[in-house]
Amino acid sequence: MSILSCAHVHTTYCDGKSPASLMAKTAWEKGFVSLGFSSHAPQHFDPGYCIDPAREQAYKEEILALREEYRGRMPIYLGIERDHFSCVSPEGYDYFISAVHYLPKPDGHHGVVDGNPEDLLAYVNEYCGGDGLAMARQYFELLRDDVLAWRAPIIGHFDLVRKNNAWLRLYDEESAAYRRLALDALRPLAETGALLEVNTGAMARGYLSTPYPEAFLLREWRTWGGEVIVNSDCHDARFLDAFFSEAEALLISLGFDHAVRLGQKEKWERFMLGQ
Ligand SMILES: [Zn+2]
Ligand SMILES: [Zn+2]
Repeated sequence: MSILSCAHVHTTYCDGKSPASLMAKTAWEKGFVSLGFSSHAPQHFDPGYCIDPAREQAYKEEILALREEYRGRMPIYLGIERDHFSCVSPEGYDYFISAVHYLPKPDGHHGVVDGNPEDLLAYVNEYCGGDGLAMARQYFELLRDDVLAWRAPIIGHFDLVRKNNAWLRLYDEESAAYRRLALDALRPLAETGALLEVNTGAMARGYLSTPYPEAFLLREWRTWGGEVIVNSDCHDARFLDAFFSEAEALLISLGFDHAVRLGQKEKWERFMLGQ
């Protein structure tokens, strides 16, 4: 297993269950070559889920103190997972992950993509005329536009809509219509140089049996010359490298011979899979 790094790590500053210090200790004990923190960036709603804006500075200081503690042993990077509706810029961070967890409502409130399935179903019925595919299109276009607008280094859990669709069956994931709209949103991102995240978080939490994104998207991404990064979207230190072996085997089966991770000298480094 050669991945030995994770750039998508939450902490008790947001909705993570483990403190940053335990995440770093666990990474070091597992022989990681690097680690990147990415708590949910501050936003004006759903406060239990993101960094309290009043604590953003404390978050930065704690991660930078951990960087000093591990200096010379394991590089630690300061990142954030920036939702499309976040209220802060990613300036001052080593990197960020672009992600969409919400869909806009006309009244200024938000529907949650990966929250309670009933809430997403209500959103589809109320704002998408009951058309699940229309909701999926809206989701993918928001994420595409966010990555393009911010020139995101990492595209977070690209097909997050799969999480609740596994229960709700709002649309047929095998259908040509669904696959086309997902591919259409992904295609313009390949030339930006963004890393497509292979995210095992929903596997660790028992929602899905394969990582985000689905194999058909990864296969095309490779043919477009796109690069991938494997992350666990870790909220609990016990699962820091959960399902990394499976993700690595999947990538090899799809023809990838290397992936990218946070580096020991450069910020991003390529490494060979299966070694
Ligand atoms: Zn996320
Ligand atoms: Zn996350």
